Amino acid sequence: MSRFMSARHAALTPYTPGEQPRDMAYTKLNTNESPYPPSPAVAAAAEREAGRLNLYCDPTCAELCRKAAALYGVEPENILPVNGSDEILYFAFTAFGDETHPFAFPDISYGFYPVYADMCHVPAHIIPLRDDFSIDPGDYIGLNENIVIANPNAPTGMALSVSDIESIVRANPDRVVVIDEAYIDFGGVSCVPLIKTYDNLLVTQTFSKSRSLAGARLGFGIACQSLIRDLNTVKYSVNPYNVNRMTQAAGAAAIDDNAYYMENCRRIVDTRANTARALEALGFTVLPSCSNFLFAAHPAIGGGALYRALKARGVLVRHFDKPRIDGFVRITIGTPEQMDILLGEIRAILQEGGSQA
Ligand code: PMP
Repeated sequence: MSRFMSARHAALTPYTPGEQPRDMAYTKLNTNESPYPPSPAVAAAAEREAGRLNLYCDPTCAELCRKAAALYGVEPENILPVNGSDEILYFAFTAFGDETHPFAFPDISYGFYPVYADMCHVPAHIIPLRDDFSIDPGDYIGLNENIVIANPNAPTGMALSVSDIESIVRANPDRVVVIDEAYIDFGGVSCVPLIKTYDNLLVTQTFSKSRSLAGARLGFGIACQSLIRDLNTVKYSVNPYNVNRMTQAAGAAAIDDNAYYMENCRRIVDTRANTARALEALGFTVLPSCSNFLFAAHPAIGGGALYRALKARGVLVRHFDKPRIDGFVRITIGTPEQMDILLGEIRAILQEGGSQA
């Protein structure tokens, strides 16, 4: 650290993104990207905008808001496009949290929540998952604190029902409840319609997973107009042109091609079911996933050892060195061919006596 670092941030432990190695071609199943490319119309739309990169983009993202509103069944005023859904989460911690207004979230969830809490000087109220890794909605009733819940949760992949979420939102009317729906298109049910009833609900979504746009960075906040106005106050105080020209065009084209992306989601859900069955046949415990990844543990090999053995064989998965989940690996669902490679390597590792790996 230099001697210039602000004392406010000197103790910050930043988020560690999943590895994006360039040393060799891995079977990459570690950051929950889609294995399927963007549709041709998306690539063409981004290319068209490339020739206009000398001009600033539309800070209001008007066209994209109009299309996203139709997609989500809300009004354009209910939408705030962002530079990946990480950005809307940061805006939410900034807008609604402070020293006296904590954010509550599960002990096992998206690793960015505690980082944003730290960054924004917002106390974190950490609530343990049940022993079976599910969220107990009862833990969030009447907290009178801001809340952020990933639904489906990450890295477990397990989802809450809309009625459980509604009970949490209803029982904390004076604070904001953020529902992070990064993985909602792979089997959960979205609670976007609830924004019409509850003025304290912010739903976040991303085009990084189901819409094959992780590299373009596009997410959305969806909420009542007054919450969106507050979040815009933060946006226009930080980075008014937060969604670049090519990404705005790519996002709009992706919405036009929704059927292509929904078909890809269906394929991923099929591949997930086949992969879960194959892992269970090999002796793994696999949590019930509504996402584009599986969280799995094997009695004969620790999560860290399995991660390292797979990496040595050219397959990348994600391991979290954290109490309660260090026995697990998180495996992104790729193409059927990629999953065959993964399963082949796992079989070989287990045959070699994986625990020594
Ligand atoms: N929420 C969850 C639960 C995630 O796993 C991720 C992906 N790392 C995000 C939000 C952020 O995704 P993005 O910024 O790419 O939209």
